[in-house]
Amino acid sequence: MKIKVNKNFENIKETYLFSEIASRVKKYQQENPDKKIIRMGIGDVTLPLPKIVVDALRGASAEMGVKETFRGYPPEYGYDFLKDAINAHYARIGVDVPSESIFVSDGAKSDLGNIVDILGDNEIIIPDPVYPVYVDSNLMSGRKITLVEGNIDNGFLPLPDQIDHEVEGAVIYLCSPNNPTGAVYSYEGLKAWVDYALKTGSMIIYDSAYEAFVVEDVPHTIYEIEGADQCAIEICSFSKFAGFTGVRCGWTVVPSKLSSDGFDLAKLWKRRQATKFNGVSYPVQRAAEMALSEEGRKACSENISYYKNNASMLARLLEQKKIRFTGGVNSPYIWLQCPNGMGSWEFFDLLLNEAQIVGTPGEGFGKSGEGFFRLTAFGTNEATKEAVERLDKLL
Ligand SMILES: *Cc1c(COP(=O)(O)O)cnc(C)c1O
Repeated sequence: MKIKVNKNFENIKETYLFSEIASRVKKYQQENPDKKIIRMGIGDVTLPLPKIVVDALRGASAEMGVKETFRGYPPEYGYDFLKDAINAHYARIGVDVPSESIFVSDGAKSDLGNIVDILGDNEIIIPDPVYPVYVDSNLMSGRKITLVEGNIDNGFLPLPDQIDHEVEGAVIYLCSPNNPTGAVYSYEGLKAWVDYALKTGSMIIYDSAYEAFVVEDVPHTIYEIEGADQCAIEICSFSKFAGFTGVRCGWTVVPSKLSSDGFDLAKLWKRRQATKFNGVSYPVQRAAEMALSEEGRKACSENISYYKNNASMLARLLEQKKIRFTGGVNSPYIWLQCPNGMGSWEFFDLLLNEAQIVGTPGEGFGKSGEGFFRLTAFGTNEATKEAVERLDKLL
């Protein structure tokens, strides 16, 4: 063929991370068939959907098979019943997010990847280490990225005063509670970013996929910070909150006050979605609505507590061993400094060979992840307990 392709794809690092992990684990298992491996690299929920959510999914599916209740294309931006439930969710946090600012989607990753469609060639500011979607989606569209370093001293919560050059009109990505580090911004930290965005004419894209894991007195949404409705888009998901990784539903908030260069960003996003997206299926939106109901939230939070129990078992052990880490409290992730100055992969091999535990080397999430390691709490309580015993002996 003689077509031109998007050469920006050349700039994206192939991530060998998960294939490299898989091949090392496979090799070990072949050489040691009798050893039981515990997987603590899982970045996906494992508990089934709550029964009442499944009932809602089933009930709505049955409606689709009856002439009187059949529905065709859903509204591009979500059914009102779900947007109202999302509005009520924000009201419980004490924030008013009107339904017109809420855009229902098939998940946070799609919106994070698609949002670049409505943005021009801005400087992109991203804390490192990071969920890879922010970096890769911007590289695909040829954007220039400034990484802001997270490290053990700033608790993996970089702040704008680390940026060493003049910034105007940048797009800043923040994720709190964070994947992979489990760290969460305080009100003060998040306010520093919002103030910075307002001062420099920048916009924040705030990923709050782990909001439901927040227990401490830290922000649940960026709109708890004054002025955020003039500079921030928030992207949310039912994946980690309600176990929807395989069901697919999320939402994005684009406040009506967001404008730049005479353009209204909510209008642009509306146009983008109406052109390239045909909405989320009715049964899924009914299931999502149920997850946000009182009973639904109770059931979902039981699952979250189950994971959090795993996280605290791991956190307690690391505290005892005086190993430095972030996360584990408002997050299903524990991000630890590899002991004795070990590299991420060195520590990976040690855990695999000596304790048969599989985690994720930190450098897979960016340069600042070198020497760090992610363990996740998405396993069973039994397996996590066993892992803690093995780690106790090894470390
Ligand atoms: C899991 C996760 C998401 C959720 O993505 P979905 O597409 O809604 O499943 C978004 N951001 C981060 C940081 C995540 O870890």
